[in-house]
Amino acid sequence: ENTLFKDIVSHAKEYGFVFQSSEIYDGLQAVYDYGPFGAELKKNIKDLWWSTMTRFNDDIVGLDSAIFMHPDTWKASGHIDSFNDPMIDNKDSKKRYRADVLLEEKAALYEKEGSPEKSEALLKKMGELLTAEDLSGVRELIISEGIACPVSGTTNWTEVRQFNLMFSTQIGSLAEDSNKIYLRPETAQGIFVNFLNVQKSARMKVPFGIAQIGKAFRNEIVARQFIFRMREFEQMEMQFFVRPGEELQWYQKWRDMRMQWHVALGIPESKLRYHDHDKLAHYANAAVDVEFEFPFGFKEVEGVHSRTDFDLKSHQEVSRKKMQYFDPEVNKNYIPYVVETSVGCDRLFLMLLCNAYTEEVSGDADNQKTRIYLKFHPALAPVKAAILPLTKKDGLPEKGQEIYKKLKGSFNVIYEEAASIGKRYTRQDLIGTPYCIAVDHQTLEDNTITIRHRDTTEQERISIDDLEPFLQRECSF
Ligand code: ATP
Repeated sequence: ENTLFKDIVSHAKEYGFVFQSSEIYDGLQAVYDYGPFGAELKKNIKDLWWSTMTRFNDDIVGLDSAIFMHPDTWKASGHIDSFNDPMIDNKDSKKRYRADVLLEEKAALYEKEGSPEKSEALLKKMGELLTAEDLSGVRELIISEGIACPVSGTTNWTEVRQFNLMFSTQIGSLAEDSNKIYLRPETAQGIFVNFLNVQKSARMKVPFGIAQIGKAFRNEIVARQFIFRMREFEQMEMQFFVRPGEELQWYQKWRDMRMQWHVALGIPESKLRYHDHDKLAHYANAAVDVEFEFPFGFKEVEGVHSRTDFDLKSHQEVSRKKMQYFDPEVNKNYIPYVVETSVGCDRLFLMLLCNAYTEEVSGDADNQKTRIYLKFHPALAPVKAAILPLTKKDGLPEKGQEIYKKLKGSFNVIYEEAASIGKRYTRQDLIGTPYCIAVDHQTLEDNTITIRHRDTTEQERISIDDLEPFLQRECSF
């Protein structure tokens, strides 16, 4: 399993999807850059989410709010007081860990060893201690479970402390405490503080939603697993404002719709599941995660949360500005309730990459061949088609260029004439291009080309005139 994940990570680097940030300086932990094909894939993911939210739902509009916000925002949202993770250091290795993650890993080990009841009891105990904020109890639990530091192998642990995940910096030129501002740890608060601006300017009526895509920053303690957990990442969040009392109906609706969306991306249903939260956050009255089976197990990709009126009410209290909406249909003023869908763009990227990565073994035992390809849905694939003249002579490159120029205004296509056709097919498989268009001598005679399909490697001949409608049809949902 872990070799599979390692293969995916090195594939992502070698073929221009994801690079470690500042690699020449030995990298920066949990920060990544997207290469040429990764940037295209990520853009396609964002475009798809954006159009799903704002075009297919007449009652959702977009917003693009700033990363920096007034510091009182984070007082109102609860992030200054409670956006913490419990951390613990090993005195020998000086390595830092998330106390809850150490316990969760131990519980997973019990589960794997065939003792689910032990696993459940441990998680329950941990939940109780964390809810009661009994940090020394958490430490005692780690010690009594005999959990050792994976690096030093010792159980010589420090106290457990709460660690706030927000990054801060100073605004303006003076480094006074009053100039302290935060890099937003979620995009949602930009939506809440703009709730009335958007509602009034776009003349929206409750129920309606606001969608936003943007960077978020969290100083994660456990920064492992590639782009699964990053310190700088991108969120795609939608806050849906509803009448008080109607939130659970909408919660159910969004829960179903978001799962259907993931299935529509080409993810098999067997690799997706819901995980209801046992312990609800201070702002929620219902919450569920959509989980995907990564090579390292089922993990959260998206959260759907019924956030009640917690955020708007708290902003009203702290800012002393009314956050109420007048509902003409019921002739009443109220603070709307909110159902949110929150998905990490990078985590979605990782899900799609893991799902697409395919190693296909063919041939008999002593002559085995492995073909690696990325089976992205054509609508998401970074490159839609490669135009490949069979040889570099006889006017084939000119014909190929003609087709390339015709298509490139509407699709991200590649033209390539170097190397054998087989090598060029392989290269396109590795970056997940769904269609290779070969230009051969027959093309000059009857204006047809062959299309090679990535997943089956089957070829078909079609007229050049049918190429554009073909790609139009295949590269959409
Ligand atoms: P986790 O439990 O994994 O830390 P969370 O429950 O804190 O996540 P939310 O605050 O609900 O996550 O954030 C919504 C979504 O944002 C997550 O489902 C995930 O896709 C994404 N996300 C959150 N933190 C990160 C991160 N550090 N790196 C990449 N994506 C993230």
